[in-house]
Amino acid sequence: MNSSIIERLTSAGHLDRIFIDGEWVLPAGQARTSVIDPSTEEPVAEVALGSAQDVTAAVAAARRAFVTWSVSSPQSRASLLDRVHSLILERAELFAQAISLEMGAAIGMARSAQVPIAAEHIRVARDIAGSYPFLTHRGNTAIMREAIGVCCLITPWNWPLYQITAKVGPALAAGCTIVLKPSELSPLSALLFAELMRDAGVPTGVFNLVNGDGPEVGAAMAMHPDVDMISITGSTRAGILVAQAAAVTVKRVAQELGGKSPNVILPDADLARAVPAGVAAAFRNVGQSCSAPTRMIVPRERLADIERIACDAVSGIVVDDPRSPQTTHGPVANRAQFNRVQEMIGAGIAEGARLVCGGLGRPQGLERGLFVRPTIFSDVHPQMRIAQEEIFGPVLAVIPYDSVDEAVEIANGTVYGLGAHVQSQDLGAARAVAARIRSGQVHINNPAWDPHAPFGGYKRSGNGREYGVEGVQEYLETKAILGYMEEKQA
Ligand code: NAD
Repeated sequence: MNSSIIERLTSAGHLDRIFIDGEWVLPAGQARTSVIDPSTEEPVAEVALGSAQDVTAAVAAARRAFVTWSVSSPQSRASLLDRVHSLILERAELFAQAISLEMGAAIGMARSAQVPIAAEHIRVARDIAGSYPFLTHRGNTAIMREAIGVCCLITPWNWPLYQITAKVGPALAAGCTIVLKPSELSPLSALLFAELMRDAGVPTGVFNLVNGDGPEVGAAMAMHPDVDMISITGSTRAGILVAQAAAVTVKRVAQELGGKSPNVILPDADLARAVPAGVAAAFRNVGQSCSAPTRMIVPRERLADIERIACDAVSGIVVDDPRSPQTTHGPVANRAQFNRVQEMIGAGIAEGARLVCGGLGRPQGLERGLFVRPTIFSDVHPQMRIAQEEIFGPVLAVIPYDSVDEAVEIANGTVYGLGAHVQSQDLGAARAVAARIRSGQVHINNPAWDPHAPFGGYKRSGNGREYGVEGVQEYLETKAILGYMEEKQA
């Protein structure tokens, strides 16, 4: 199947092309990138990269298309999103295989999570497009919510399709036109997505794809004078660069950036439920999720029990070949991530945190590939690097506290504010702590994922919200038309 994805993209000519103005075209320059399978570190495909010149062509196409798409009926936009949604589900296996190949997700996880929840963003955007009040009235004034314009969307490699649909769905629902730049490390699923958009009948120029790197293609988007909005999901470092470059043309900037999310285990929590669920959430997608709860903040008197239960949970994790259905966790996605995880495990040891499971190097029996050991440190001090810096790998810091006030202070004690969890058998107590946490989402007792719940960051985790109604509103401008309503005669 893997080779068939490459064959499919090769025979269609898509590996050599980008998608602009409804056509697969050769980029202006000669740059290419190798897609590396992280489970072997072998290259599996060569993909053409665009340049600043291609960004200009794509933006011009999106600008032309904006004239009609922005005033299309919301129902017609909902119909397009409906076709996109159906096609993602129809091609789910292709996407799962591509994602597993390009970033190492275990195939079972790609099938059960990466692809279906990516489809959810499109379904939700479809429903909102069909029901959102784009025109309301306040007295004699009409309040019009209309598409902001041409949007450049920059996405990361960790949940490649999911991050694309979280932006493309709402932007289309709002009536915006799009130039997408996926991560240069995960271009295969994005090529399949562009193919799908064409098959779904997206009007010419409404959706464009320019593969490319951050410093050239991403920066060209951020600086471009004819782009109205740029939305980036990625590191805080890249988010800052984008905002700086975008400031000159006063475009709207939405940033979904890094995190170091806390999981506050309150003193009365049911440990047998809360701790395994906390480990699973921290290590989901091999810890490569921006909102992964990688700081477990625990009552000191229960520390020993929590360590034991957490290590038991780790023993159920199968780190192995991502193509095997038994594998729960594949490799990390790329060499930079592997080095980063090793560096941070080393930092935890050097700073004197107590290693309770995992550690440096690959898991036993895996001689090659970017596999890492799921690792838990305990007795972590809140100011240690492993408690402050985003690692983006399966490394959990267990931090003890002596009072609930201290737990809240630790939870809020990083530069980030993206996700958070609270565990308690007393809903009132959990709600009180949730209200004190400075982050865009708080999960009480591991609820099911909610695609309507707005998602985004406080502090250096970003600006703006994705998902649900708030996600669509990011792509809208507000126009007040005074005197719109007929004056009533006195
Ligand atoms: P990254 O910042 O290296 O890259 C993200 C995207 O930004 C890529 O498409 C990249 O090409 C682009 N980029 C890089 N430099 C740029 C520049 N100067 N100008 C314009 N674009 C640029 O991040 P990554 O390694 O792909 O992803 C991991 C990071 O993403 C983590 O920090 C993680 O927390 C964050 N993330 C955040 C969320 C969220 O919703 N908040 C979700 C997933 C990942």
